[in-house]
Amino acid sequence: MKNIILIAPPAAGKGTLSNSLSICYGYLPLSTGDMLREKAKNDESLREAMKSGMLIDDNTVFSALEEQLNKIGDSLYILDGFPRTVEQAKMYDEVLNKLNRDLGVVIYLDVPKDELSSRVTSRLVCPKCKRSYSTRNKDLLPKVDGLCDDCQEVLIQRQDDSLETFEQRYNEYLEKTQPLIDYYKNKGVLVTINSSLPDETFNLASELIK
Ligand code: ADP
Repeated sequence: MKNIILIAPPAAGKGTLSNSLSICYGYLPLSTGDMLREKAKNDESLREAMKSGMLIDDNTVFSALEEQLNKIGDSLYILDGFPRTVEQAKMYDEVLNKLNRDLGVVIYLDVPKDELSSRVTSRLVCPKCKRSYSTRNKDLLPKVDGLCDDCQEVLIQRQDDSLETFEQRYNEYLEKTQPLIDYYKNKGVLVTINSSLPDETFNLASELIK
């Protein structure tokens, strides 16, 4: 199997897909958003920048990512939320060259904007294992109201999951991340999934990575 890069607009289900692929096939999920939220616990300016929905500078992102890549050795991994810009993709190509590793496959989750904005306001996450739930989708409801199925932690709403921040994140996505689709299409590594259903998305992704 190959390493996976997930590209998608905010709240498209990258975290949920990454979680199920890691449970079923043993991929290590690497989310730059989670890495940065961890760092932000001790860094107020990073916390404020993330709350506004802006992209974080490449030095901060690469230092967090490279630290993880060095830790995991040769394990298969899924990148969720990285790269976010063509610039980051080019820098990542150089990192892979240095490590003598393959890029793998890039999965693009194509979900319409109105579906995304309604998901943002109904999303709850586990602060411990980062699993996502939804108060609106019965397949993604926690078994016990307000508690994580896996760790029984109280579920929280992410600080950047407001409609206002969503607009900012979505605009950043259109301007900076969407050009990546052509970048990876030209390399011949891009596959697209058009689905808003978590189970269907997982089944399609499973076929694509075989
Ligand atoms: P979402 O995909 O729902 O926007 P993420 O958890 O992937 O959520 O990211 C949350 C925030 O973390 C982003 O809005 C951005 O501020 C920051 N971030 C995550 N990954 C990157 C990255 N690769 N480059 C720059 N900023 C990032």
